[in-house]
Amino acid sequence: MTNGFRWRRAAGWLTAGAAIAAMALPACGQVGGPAAAANPGAHRWAIVLHGGAGVIERSSMTPQAEAAYRAGLRHAIETGGAVLDRGGSAVDAIEAAIKTLEDNPLFNAGKGAVFAADGTNQMDAAMMDGATMKAGAVADVEHTKNPISAAKAVMQKSPYVLLVGKGADAFAAHEGLQQEPQSYFFTERRWESLVRELQREHLPVPPRPKGAPPAPAKPLAFLETPDNHKYGTVGMVALDKYGNIAAGTSTGGLTAKRWDRVGDSPLIGAGTYASNQSCAVSGTGIGEYFIRYTVARTICALVQYKGMKLQAAADEVVQHQLVAVHGDGGVIAITPDGQMAWSFNTPGMFRARLVEGGKPQIAIYRDEP
Ligand code: ASP
Repeated sequence: MTNGFRWRRAAGWLTAGAAIAAMALPACGQVGGPAAAANPGAHRWAIVLHGGAGVIERSSMTPQAEAAYRAGLRHAIETGGAVLDRGGSAVDAIEAAIKTLEDNPLFNAGKGAVFAADGTNQMDAAMMDGATMKAGAVADVEHTKNPISAAKAVMQKSPYVLLVGKGADAFAAHEGLQQEPQSYFFTERRWESLVRELQREHLPVPPRPKGAPPAPAKPLAFLETPDNHKYGTVGMVALDKYGNIAAGTSTGGLTAKRWDRVGDSPLIGAGTYASNQSCAVSGTGIGEYFIRYTVARTICALVQYKGMKLQAAADEVVQHQLVAVHGDGGVIAITPDGQMAWSFNTPGMFRARLVEGGKPQIAIYRDEP
């Protein structure tokens, strides 16, 4: 079977989820406002981040797993907040925060990236700076420890926007970014997910990767068992003290992807977008839909040209346009005047937000504020 089957299966629970998606969702919030926008340098910084959307339900989470995910989100948002607090840029805060998630095996990015059908880890990432409209992205990197740093380097140090495969890894190495053997990205639960998915699709299972630890003799502890939420991409949008916004996204893509498939995350306008003229967005979900519906840019276009509030624009695309085609997933977003939003049409989305002077708000399930 192909991924198409998985989408149809996902659409099965989405039918139930569509009813949930139709519920009015509380707006994520607002800081700053027009007064702050008129005073460059006087902005209250703010961050929204996600750690993936999907079938994330209380019934499938142990207290330990939930605590570990919440701790990972908290660490990431506090790391980004510290950068913004000392006057760092939105771009630098995003890199610092996303690196913590890439280094955390729980999330589908960097160390915890899912496996492609051939048994390799192929990672995508993008960064966009709303102040300059510069963007950088990498796709299908296999050795760069922190793909988000490679995306930032493409944006800041190359004349290009998107580098792929071996060339992207070579560029990252040239920029002094840490390279790792594929075995670094091996995690037992992602491997088990791949094996299960390939068996389900009646596809051949590749040999265990070179350098991977021996297969465990007994069942794994919960945190290492196969993940049952399909997604787990990470992303962040930020507003810095100077009134600039940016967006970044990093992912291992979809389990058992084939033929060097690239998703929406590294495609500017699809999974990642930022412009000081409108908003910054990072998405997570079935990338093909985010590409076809240019999700991130469409949300910002609604804000820019229709004058919609950010939450309404995000809901329009995620709760209506995507739901209509069973495009499972969610987004986080921010505007230069301090509006923040999250919107998702799946049972859950790992997410967090933090505003200067405030406390981190961390949530996983749909019914959390
Ligand atoms: N959007 C990512 C992709 O399609 C997957 C995800 O968000 O989990 O590659």
